[in-house]
Amino acid sequence: MSAIAGKLSFLFYAISAIALLIIFWVFRRINFKIASNFQAETDKLEEKINLLSQDICEKNKISVLLPEKSKKIESLFDVSHELIELYNFQEILDFLLKSLCQLFPSADNIMLFTLHKNSLSLERSFKKEERIIKEKCGDIIEKWLIKHNQSLIIDDLLKDFRFDCNKIAAFRERKIRSLIASPIAVGDTLIGTVRIENSAISSFSFDDSRLLRDLCDLAAVVLERALLFSKAEELAIRDSLTFLFVKSHFYKRVEEELKRAKYKNSNLGVIMIDIDDFKKINDTYGHIVGDIILKRLSAVLIETVGSAGDVIARFGGEEFVVALIECSKERLIEVAQNIQKNTERAKVSFRRKNINFTVSIGAVLYPEDGLMLNDLINRADQYLYKAKKEGKNKICFTGQ
Ligand code: GH3
Ligand code: MG
Ligand code: MG
Repeated sequence: MSAIAGKLSFLFYAISAIALLIIFWVFRRINFKIASNFQAETDKLEEKINLLSQDICEKNKISVLLPEKSKKIESLFDVSHELIELYNFQEILDFLLKSLCQLFPSADNIMLFTLHKNSLSLERSFKKEERIIKEKCGDIIEKWLIKHNQSLIIDDLLKDFRFDCNKIAAFRERKIRSLIASPIAVGDTLIGTVRIENSAISSFSFDDSRLLRDLCDLAAVVLERALLFSKAEELAIRDSLTFLFVKSHFYKRVEEELKRAKYKNSNLGVIMIDIDDFKKINDTYGHIVGDIILKRLSAVLIETVGSAGDVIARFGGEEFVVALIECSKERLIEVAQNIQKNTERAKVSFRRKNINFTVSIGAVLYPEDGLMLNDLINRADQYLYKAKKEGKNKICFTGQ
């Protein structure tokens, strides 16, 4: 009996011990699970804290830069406001350079190029120190801008793999290390380029580069409008066939020159030219040949008169007029004789035939032949009529 009781109590203790072990193991597992969950939560929170502090840092940086940025945007707004008011190409370039100096006060040099007949030329420049800019037609920086039609930022010319700094005069001669540059273009149509240089490295930010591009885009539109405007103005004062000035513009220009001649006490010559028997030429060869002869005579007048201040116009039909500024009587007669001679030599080829033509000329001089422009024109017309009556291909003037 006592043996059975002994076995039973051993069994009881054994079962109790196993139960205790199981309870201890379950407790350990639960504890471990809670601890690992807690660790995961802590890690997540730490990650969030890191992200938030990074965000705060960035926002702090932005808030420091924000007043400067908003000032630049405000300046750009003011500049664009004034820029769109301008219609003259040269005035726009002046204003653009002034605005660039204001927007980029730390710039050492600012260079403004414009495109003429496929080549760039330096139109305006700002230099903090007195030095000569040799790149009058740009260099590999401008070539890059034209090729890519993109703005450019260089933090350090010495390390930029796109450019061989030894080929850049800015680096060699002006000790430039960083720059921003931008094309001035409307779509694919290039009008010019801008380059802003600094001798220190990393002087310009991406915001600076974007600001420059924004200003250049706006300037491009305004410059293109100015070009169209001057073309329209030019067309209004030019004859569409010969491209010489029209009568109204001749009057406007020569009235001004006459005032100047009165003020300076100088002479002014007026030569009226009319093609002889032009109606016959038209009737024989047709109007197209007549037009070619009108263009040929225009070229003869341009080649013969030559002087930049003188004014050549198509007075109407087959009649032309030339005003010679600060002209002596000798020069007046010499130019008239040269016009007559060169016209005789000029021929127009039509169906393997050479067509020659001649002109009659009336030449007058201010103040000898009249004081007002109308008087001078009328007098020149009278001499022209005389030349026609006396057989054509002739020059008539006072004191012959
Ligand atoms: P004259 O020697 O006396 O000056 O005689 P003309 O035949 O030159 O002068 P007229 O006034 O009799 O004729 C001028 C002609 O010029 C008549 C007109 O048809 C022609 N004409 C005027 N404008 C143009 C033009 O733009 N093109 C052409 N082809 N002919 C024109
Ligand atoms: Mg005629
Ligand atoms: Mg006539």
